[in-house]
Amino acid sequence: MSEANGKRRVVIVGGGFAGLGCAQRLAEHEDVGVTLIDRNNYHQFQPLLYQVATSLLAPSDVANSLRAVFPDQRNVDVKLAEISEVDTTNRTVSTTDGERWTGDALVLAGGSQPNFFHTPGAAEHAFPLYSLDNATRLRSRILGLLEAVDRNPELMRLGALNFVIVGGGPTGVEVAGALADMINVTVPAEYRNLDAKAARICLVDLGDALLKAFSDKAHGYVARVLDERGVEVHLRTGVNEVASGHAVLSDGTVIPTHCVVWGGGITAAPVAADCGLAQGRGGRVDVQPDLTLPGSERVYVVGDIANIPGPEETVLPQLGSVALQSGQWAAENILADFKGEERKEFAYRDKGIMAMIGRKAAIAEVGKNHHEVHGQLAHVAWLGVHAALMTGMRSKLEAVIDWSWDRFTKTGGPQVLDRGEFAEIDWEDDPVVTSSESAPTSSA
Ligand SMILES: Cc1cc2nc3c(=O)[nH]c(=O)nc-3n(C[C@H](O)[C@H](O)[C@H](O)COP(=O)(O)OP(=O)(O)OC[C@H]3O[C@@H](n4cnc5c(N)ncnc54)[C@H](O)[C@@H]3O)c2cc1C
Repeated sequence: MSEANGKRRVVIVGGGFAGLGCAQRLAEHEDVGVTLIDRNNYHQFQPLLYQVATSLLAPSDVANSLRAVFPDQRNVDVKLAEISEVDTTNRTVSTTDGERWTGDALVLAGGSQPNFFHTPGAAEHAFPLYSLDNATRLRSRILGLLEAVDRNPELMRLGALNFVIVGGGPTGVEVAGALADMINVTVPAEYRNLDAKAARICLVDLGDALLKAFSDKAHGYVARVLDERGVEVHLRTGVNEVASGHAVLSDGTVIPTHCVVWGGGITAAPVAADCGLAQGRGGRVDVQPDLTLPGSERVYVVGDIANIPGPEETVLPQLGSVALQSGQWAAENILADFKGEERKEFAYRDKGIMAMIGRKAAIAEVGKNHHEVHGQLAHVAWLGVHAALMTGMRSKLEAVIDWSWDRFTKTGGPQVLDRGEFAEIDWEDDPVVTSSESAPTSSA
């Protein structure tokens, strides 16, 4: 099947790392038409969302218009739409408005969404960090709390400056470190009447170490850096409940708080379940080693939404590098399909992993042997790699200016409280907090 002009069409759902990687590779081939569909008109750079939430970067630094990614490629057509149905037999997707697109090949790259693991109150009261919308909501909540305490220090008693971060993976650690820098450096410089030392940042994780994917030496390093910056780490501890004015930990501790950040896990984007795709581990869609959906012709599933087979019967982790490479690989297999050639099994090139802990502190495992670097050198490597991965020269330049500003000044970056609804807090006395105030672990 091909279009009247002889072009083959590829429909891609999702303009994240995976969908964009696929579209960019296909865009090089003028005899292929690409329809790239996303519910947002921009690509969001998830690894830097925490820097928007903590006022280090502006939203425009981490989001780039999808149309601007393809300024000269007339064979790429970007559509702003929410996909609600997928017909894998006919490679057709339908939007919530009833529009339909059919391709000679279909690529599903819908990414992931937060998983609250049925924790009571988490979906209603916690702040996840998986989209630009999430990041600006959290930024307004943090700034709203600072402004409220600046006006009325009495609110400290109700946990106004207690922050609970759920999840000791990269998202949780990066948020905790950046928030600690904000509280230790920016807040004393800008909120002169506020007792920043009374703020609490609690990082909670069920496991026995933070940043599990790194070495034992790295675990010691991250624990030491966070401790020096005043972050309380609660390991082997879960969160049993999140309410509007407190969080309850699995050991019974009640922490008065109006800001619980959720970095506790992800599951596949709703498009997987809503569209009836068979879901495997983590709610993700199991794919074959060549990234196709079993039993469907020329339907590919890539990036976070897919369980992609890795070495020794594992599945590959949900990382930007896996998403980007799987999207690019799917493009190559689609081109092979069109030429009647054989598809190849996906071979992931693991270039290492990195995590930022805060100012001048990061961990990087790089190279074939995963050589581990800590501290300032890793910090510089992290900045370089992330700047290089960002789409758009303007975003890269703006991010570098904001990072330099942060490096050499004490004042914060773009501290914009633009979503007032998330700064409106119900300060009524919380009966759970009031009744637990005598417990040593619950004081603000
Ligand atoms: C806070 C955070 C920090 C991270 N840090 C790192 C890091 O340091 N290093 C690293 O390698 N990885 C990191 N990751 C993981 C990495 O960002 C993801 O693995 C990667 O973004 C996945 O890419 P993707 O294209 O599969 O999905 P996404 O980037 O999530 O893109 C999916 C796209 O699909 C669109 N979409 C979804 N459903 C629909 C629908 N029904 N209709 C239309 N459009 C739809 C979404 O709008 C989105 O644009 C981080 C992730 C998060 C959340």
